[in-house]
Amino acid sequence: MIDASPFGALPDGRPVTAYRLGEPDGLVVTVLDRGATIHRLEVPGPDAHPVNLALGLAGIDDYLASDAYFGAVVGRYANRIAGSRFVLDGMTYRLTANDGANCLHGGTEGFDARLWDVVAAPNLDAPRDRLTLRLISPDGDQGFPGRLEVLATYRVEGAVLTLDLQAVTDAPTVVNLANHVYLNLAGEGAGGIDGHTLTVAADRYLPVNESSLPWGRLDPVEGTPLDLRTPAVLGERIRNDHEQIGRMGGLDHSFHLNGAGFRSAATLADPVSGRSVEVLTDNPAVQVYTANFLDGAMVGTGGRRYRQGDGIALETQNHPDAPNLAPDHPQLPSPVLRPGQRYAARTQWRFNW
Ligand code: BGC
Repeated sequence: MIDASPFGALPDGRPVTAYRLGEPDGLVVTVLDRGATIHRLEVPGPDAHPVNLALGLAGIDDYLASDAYFGAVVGRYANRIAGSRFVLDGMTYRLTANDGANCLHGGTEGFDARLWDVVAAPNLDAPRDRLTLRLISPDGDQGFPGRLEVLATYRVEGAVLTLDLQAVTDAPTVVNLANHVYLNLAGEGAGGIDGHTLTVAADRYLPVNESSLPWGRLDPVEGTPLDLRTPAVLGERIRNDHEQIGRMGGLDHSFHLNGAGFRSAATLADPVSGRSVEVLTDNPAVQVYTANFLDGAMVGTGGRRYRQGDGIALETQNHPDAPNLAPDHPQLPSPVLRPGQRYAARTQWRFNW
């Protein structure tokens, strides 16, 4: 099933559309063409009444006023680039800064803020369960070199949501795309995720400095509250007195996923509702972000205010600042994309309810 309905308009008058994917009585995902954004992610709850597990906002004006990246596909470079600059092939590129001196999630007008084009499903024989959106990011966009053509395909099959992100460029550039959905398995607006358990398949993570920037070192999680290799109750971890947790006000760290290829990255579970989701990816890392900066200023889709820790984002991606760090730290995967190459990253959410 796929259906479309109006979702207001951008300030320049262009209409925004909400697309619903999935079968009633199962997983139903609503995607906005603005930001290729997951707006709602519903599963059957008690009495088969749908429960929305994704934090989101009620109307387009709320999204325009928000800097929380709810559900959006962020790019051209998800996460931070230090000093909003990097060097590639001997050329220095300067980016728009939107996080102090740093460039966060693509800069002042990242992919989350763009209206994406909905293109025909790639396989015309099976278009009804998937939605493909395309974005052209011109050469020089936010300072990034090369014209980048990006495709985002969402597919819902039973209890499984898959997102495929692809990109090609006409000049050397750096690319890191991620979906920024915040989940709360008790339902958005239900309060904090303290009681959820989280497992992350990572032996190592990147510690960060006061500006939330890593310096390239991969530290063992062993012996720290970031050891999530067996299910950990989140409330205990985000209140730990470890210096890295204090610095970020919770978890806001890039975990270097074990292994390679398409594999399990993380499992989030809510013992109260009995719901869980396993996140799989072929990305090298996952940024675990416990919504530390939600401060009660925004009212969510269901009419309740979002406060710190009311959701968790498991953003599968490459590491922060890899454009600057990877050249000197061979253990960090390169984010460089060249003409003739194709960036392709898959993330899958397998729900249980
Ligand atoms: C980052 C946070 C940032 C947030 C903004 C996350 O991906 O890790 O540091 O504040 O995005 O919503």
